[in-house]
Amino acid sequence: MSLTVLMNAGPWLSVPPPGYGGIENVIATLVPELRRLGVRVVLASVGSSTLPVDEQVSVFADGQFAALQRPYNQVCGIAQAHLAGVVRELHSRDDIDLVHDHVEAVGLATLAAMGPAGPPTLHTLHWDLAKHPALYGSLDGGDRVRVNGVSASQLARAPLALREHSVGHVHLSTPLALDADRRPRPDKGEHLLILGRINPGKGQDVGARLAHRVGLPLVLAGPVGPYHRPADLAAAGDEARQNPDVRFFLDEVAPHVDGDLVRWVGTVAGQERDDLLAAARASLFPLRWEEPGGTAVVESLALGTPVVATSRGCLPELIEHGRTGLLTTDEEELDDLVLSAELLDPDECRRVAAQRFTPEVMAQRYVELYERVRQGTSAA
Ligand code: UDP
Repeated sequence: MSLTVLMNAGPWLSVPPPGYGGIENVIATLVPELRRLGVRVVLASVGSSTLPVDEQVSVFADGQFAALQRPYNQVCGIAQAHLAGVVRELHSRDDIDLVHDHVEAVGLATLAAMGPAGPPTLHTLHWDLAKHPALYGSLDGGDRVRVNGVSASQLARAPLALREHSVGHVHLSTPLALDADRRPRPDKGEHLLILGRINPGKGQDVGARLAHRVGLPLVLAGPVGPYHRPADLAAAGDEARQNPDVRFFLDEVAPHVDGDLVRWVGTVAGQERDDLLAAARASLFPLRWEEPGGTAVVESLALGTPVVATSRGCLPELIEHGRTGLLTTDEEELDDLVLSAELLDPDECRRVAAQRFTPEVMAQRYVELYERVRQGTSAA
């Protein structure tokens, strides 16, 4: 296949990310598969990115530190000007066929402003869009920007201006799904796990109260605002309360964290994260927001752990009720569901993940969308 894609990962974190990093993780999963399918990839990222690509352009040497010392808007402005220059040059030389952008504050604004003279562009939506309609005001139909969602539900909730530019959705994937059905079956423990940023939308407070009612151990894994370890949060003192997620944790979750039945272990990574997830009786998502993509959901299935969740956002698209998880629209029913989760077959979760949520499935779907964008069609 002769197709060259400029992949815009933005000026913030390296790819793959050093720790937590949603968009950067998606790109790190997607790009190797695209290249295996014969796509040439030029990565626009920070200089410290180590992902193997065909060519790399960078606005900052190391975004995490250099960029964050400047105000957000200033970083975006510098990154926009840099990206515009790179795109103009590569496009004028016919060196790229398409831009795949992931960073609305940098790429979308830049590419939309180029109008019909710009290259065909696919922008992937990563947010819960209902809260951010203003970000997308710049799409006017006269440009060559098309968008895709990470779930059908995310797109359905998106502002009309975006839906009119949509070419469909692509579910997130995980490298853990590769051969998920062929790995040895891990031993299961007793604990429930909530894996994700500690945040009101993810509902850790609901989970913590539930654990005490049903008497099952619950592990909360993930950062609280910028704090990745309990000791770092404790050392930060009162100033930490300026962050809304810290306030949520201290006021709504921490009173139920007794260090015994309910524990907050901070951010987990690598093998530790995978072991914690694989040994869980169930992954719990007591959501209060419309989860747009749910990487942790597909990771859970890939490791053979059924999902118990409120049926919000992408959850009904990713989880088959009664097969790979248990869903409810009624938060109060979650107690019964966590107790029933052990009736679900971990191997079935892994089989479904190996079929539906591999990087290869995701990359093939993106190649289809790239074709659609290049042909200028907009049917989903
Ligand atoms: N994650 C992790 N360690 C943690 C908490 C989260 O590695 O302690 C990872 C998780 O495995 C997933 C990502 O962070 O890959 C979260 O992505 P998701 O789409 O689930 O949620 P988001 O934070 O993007 O809303």
